[in-house]
Parts: sequence; C-alpha cells; structure tokens
Amino acid sequence: MDQDHGASVGSGHSGGQAVASSGDIQRLATLVRRARYMVAFTGAGASTESGLPDFRSSQGLWRRVPQHMASLAFMERHFDEFVAFYRQRIEALKGVQPSRVHRILARWEAAGWLKAVITQNVDGLHQQAGSRRVLPLHGDLRTCRCQRCGRTQPSEAFLSRPYCDCGGRLRPNVVLFGESLPAAVWQQSHQEALRCDLMLVVGSSLEVYPAASLPELVVRRAAAGEAVLAIVNRDPTPLDEQAGLVLRGVAGDILEQVDQELARLGSNGDPVE
Ligand SMILES: [Zn+2]
Repeated sequence: MDQDHGASVGSGHSGGQAVASSGDIQRLATLVRRARYMVAFTGAGASTESGLPDFRSSQGLWRRVPQHMASLAFMERHFDEFVAFYRQRIEALKGVQPSRVHRILARWEAAGWLKAVITQNVDGLHQQAGSRRVLPLHGDLRTCRCQRCGRTQPSEAFLSRPYCDCGGRLRPNVVLFGESLPAAVWQQSHQEALRCDLMLVVGSSLEVYPAASLPELVVRRAAAGEAVLAIVNRDPTPLDEQAGLVLRGVAGDILEQVDQELARLGSNGDPVE
C-alpha cells in the first residue's frame, strides 16, 4: 500500500460549503493512478447533471413523489397507478445523456484504471457512456420482467402493455422497497469491495442499505491498510470521518479536474516534468 493512501483527509471536513482544494484534487488523482484495483460506487449525484433528480437531497425525488409508490405492496394493490408512475419515470429517461461523471468513469475503465462500477442508479447511464463492467445494485429501468415467469425484456414492452405473453404482470426490472437486491449482482459487488484497494464513491449520500455496507466494508479494510475509501459528494456522508479522502462539491467538476490532473501525472503517479 502506498504511503499516500489514507494519509490525509480533504477539505470536506472543514465546513459545509467547502470546495475541493487543488491539493485534494492532486491527492485523489494520485490515489487513482497508483491504485492497482479501483472500483467506483455511484449514486444519484452521478446522474443529476444529466437532468435526473436525485432521491434524498432537499430537492430530491422522494420529496415530491411518495416513496411508497415504488414498493412491492403498492404494485400488488394498485397496479394501474404503479404502472402510470413507472411509465413516467421510464419516459423521463428518454433522451437523457450521460453526464461528465459517467463519461470520465468510462474512460478510466478503458484506460485500465477502473475495474468496475457498482451503482445504486437504475438509469443505465453508465452503460450508455461505455462502461462495461457495471453492477446495478438496484436494477435497471431500461428493462422490465414478468412477475410470474421472470422473463426479461426491454422496457418498451412495459410502456405499451404491462402484461407478459404468459399472462403475468410486467414490472420494471428494479428493486422495489420491500424487495431484496438481485443476488448475483450483490455477490459480485461484495467481491469487488473485498478485492479493491481504492473505492471511489461518487454522488452517494451513503444512507441506503444494504448498498452502503459495501463502502463500510472498505472502511474496515482501510483500518488494516488494505484499501482506501475516497468520497466525492455534494453533501456530508456518514462515512466522511472514516474515509481516507473526502472531496465535497459538484461531482462532475471534481472528476473533470482529477481527470486533467491525471493527464499531468506519469504512470507511477508522479508529475511529468
Ligand atoms: Zn411471463
């Protein structure tokens, strides 16, 4: 483990409106370049620049839409309203473009620096930006599946007629409140959290479980010097105090600056003179 890892904590600690300093940008760029196995963990803040509302901030979706509509119980009891709500959400995704965050993470994967993106987002924008190894913990709104036979198909089917050929109800292929996370994706994400030496959190408030237990796992590994947790988020998170580096601000701005800094660094993480 490099000495830089976990050596300092960024300006995020010093105040609510803190903006990442150039020193923090350099530190994160060095962590990224020196990591042997970096994994990203993203939340709604990665997609806000694409025009999608986040969920838990003061402007978030759950302040405007009752959370219970995205629940298993609501789907079972009020299927028509449930369908109308999700049709709106799927339609809202049309024409939405990946943000700077999605594009930069896709580039870092192509460069071999980033090994996987674990995401809590269901918008499919990481895949659209070109990321190959994406683990969507909460499912994927671009597909739907039959509640009876389990067959998966593009969400267009759900938009036109929410019933499968077998007669079962179609529902978005996302995790509803009251449902478990998809077992295979969870298993793989857990493996990535165990394997990585750098987990980069981007745009997540780290308040949703069990997803947030993955960065928590990295924090425990950090205590043994095995990994570093770095957090890029607009607001404070419960793990800020334990993270190796915290950069607070607009995720797209910060990643863009880190990306520029990476271009200046040599392959060993030292500045190119
Ligand atoms: Zn079916």
